[in-house]
Amino acid sequence: MAVKTPIYMDNAATTRVDPRVLDVMLPYFSEIYGNAASRNHQFGWAAEEAVSRARTQAADLIGAGPKEIIWTSGSTESNNLAIKGAARMHEKAPPGSEGRGHIITSAIEHKAVLDPCKRLAKEGFDVTFLSPGSDGIVTVDDIAQAIRDDTILVTIMWANNEIGTINQIPRIGELCHEKGIIFHTDATQWVGKMPTDVTADGIDLLSWSGHKIYGPNGVGALYIRRRKPRVRLVAQIDGGGHERGFRSGTLNVPAIVGFGAACEICQQEMQDEAQRLFVLRRRLEDGVTTALDAVQINGHPDKRLPHVTNISFGYVEGESMMMSISDIACSSGSACTSASLEPSYVLKGLGVGDDMAHSSLRLSLGRFTTEEEVDYTVEKIVHAVKKLRELSPLYDMAMEGIDITKVQWDEH
Ligand SMILES: *Cc1c(COP(=O)(O)O)cnc(C)c1O
Repeated sequence: MAVKTPIYMDNAATTRVDPRVLDVMLPYFSEIYGNAASRNHQFGWAAEEAVSRARTQAADLIGAGPKEIIWTSGSTESNNLAIKGAARMHEKAPPGSEGRGHIITSAIEHKAVLDPCKRLAKEGFDVTFLSPGSDGIVTVDDIAQAIRDDTILVTIMWANNEIGTINQIPRIGELCHEKGIIFHTDATQWVGKMPTDVTADGIDLLSWSGHKIYGPNGVGALYIRRRKPRVRLVAQIDGGGHERGFRSGTLNVPAIVGFGAACEICQQEMQDEAQRLFVLRRRLEDGVTTALDAVQINGHPDKRLPHVTNISFGYVEGESMMMSISDIACSSGSACTSASLEPSYVLKGLGVGDDMAHSSLRLSLGRFTTEEEVDYTVEKIVHAVKKLRELSPLYDMAMEGIDITKVQWDEH
């Protein structure tokens, strides 16, 4: 049976909306279109009731209470509210001065964490950007050593979006609670795929997003702990006091309803789904690594999300690779789209060399990925790499056992 192309292997970038989610959303555009803040009529009440149901669905997925969930426009906003909101609430000196407080994060966070941290650094906060090990994991020891008397916040992602590596979040949570430091995690790639319990795992603030869990784009949530301790934040958007003052703005009811439905489906199906995707990913990795030499899988071999793989192909140029597999939608570790020729900062952060970073592919499987698609992807990649290597004198030399790092190249 021929597979339908293009094939979508980029589920870590965004996911298709599950048809069941879409069905639940549709009436909220055309029939139940009230403003959830309208207290005087049935349209408003119906919208408010739907939002409240979604809040419970979202809370249940992470072991929180519904009052601990704040709606946002996505993880970028959730991260901004968590990080800037916590820092500004607990600052040790007024705006404009130095020494406003210390924040710990990692060098391979998503830009939606790195950039708010950099903003705060410009505004007088001190930020420590911890380097992960070559496996992509930030160690609990490194975090413990970075903690200072004026540390306000630790923000460490649960699972990395480029390599899928999983951090030891429960242990970091425990450490932060011992020290009385607020702990935020960007769990965008984790929640909905793997079991989450904010209470057991010592998390104070947690971000996740609709479009990464087969829900709609433009909606996300922030978990804000209410007990032991009650976490306080400075709002980043003012106007009307929605969401208990944490985030003003009229709620996007259809999207929130979709987010709730997506959470409930994930909760029911994640265990089977993770198992199925793990098997498919192994098929993909085995297929590629048995057919090709000089291939490297980036990140920790086991402590990884089951559906993400990041593979570097030696002696292949990243751009040519992407062009020759153009009917497979995936991400590349090469950022040559812009003027910059910088490879992925995440791979560089692990110590992957520039060549191997440029020639890397992130393939992320999802709920709608089939075995046929995986087999087609393997075949296509193997064919492309072999073809490109036929043109590569470096590959020939390496296969003859010549160490090309030691070759004296002719100068003219
Ligand atoms: C996608 C992603 C984000 C950004 O989420 P949006 O909802 O698109 O704003 C943040 N962090 C991680 C780890 C992500 O994968």
